[in-house]
Amino acid sequence: MRLVFLGPPGSGKGTQAQLLAAALGLRHVATGDMFRQAIQEKSAVGKKVARLVNNGELVPDALVGEVVRDHLDGLPNDAGFVLDGFPRTATQAEMLQEILDRRGWSLDAAVALKVPEEVIVARLGGRRVCGHCGATYQADQLPDPDNGKCERCGEPLVTREDDRPEAVRRRLELYWSTARGVEEFYAAQGLLREVAAEGTVEEVQKALLAALGRGGNDPH
Ligand code: AMP
Repeated sequence: MRLVFLGPPGSGKGTQAQLLAAALGLRHVATGDMFRQAIQEKSAVGKKVARLVNNGELVPDALVGEVVRDHLDGLPNDAGFVLDGFPRTATQAEMLQEILDRRGWSLDAAVALKVPEEVIVARLGGRRVCGHCGATYQADQLPDPDNGKCERCGEPLVTREDDRPEAVRRRLELYWSTARGVEEFYAAQGLLREVAAEGTVEEVQKALLAALGRGGNDPH
């Protein structure tokens, strides 16, 4: 099975894509992870993208396309995968189409996680991060949300600048300015599967499997 995973920041896209890949035995291919790793390794790509990734800006289509093409070209012919974080623009969707066509591959579905904006603002606004080790927490699960300490390293927890409501709304606007074109691209091919993603991680996972015809009652 070959899938594309779409969803705004705070939709739980990364978590759900990873779980789904594990449940269906697919590779989880996440461009954000690839870029973060390249930055850590200080590779040529890492040096090119560091500033953009660190500022939450999009990496140019041509460079993302190149990185994804190299990665997918290295996979065996029978590989199944979940693409997470790519494509993010209509141009990238066309690039992906070309990469797939060349390998004789087709997509089974483009899954779009749907979460109302208020829920995302509340979710990300409630996120607390350890400024030292990067561990994340939800404020409503902390004994003292305003003075939280990291369970791993004991350092104070903070709210990321870009998780403040105004910044979250800006990030969502930026997301939709390019993502709408991607959804339209897959809707036109009859591949778009919209999944409500407001519930718990387990509930959303179940809804996802059902949307892909892999629910508990499906013998295939
Ligand atoms: P993510 O983990 O998917 O949120 O990605 C982290 C960062 O990597 C993004 O904020 C972008 O800077 C960059 N990035 C990842 N995937 C893409 C993509 N498909 N197009 C452009 N930039 C991307």
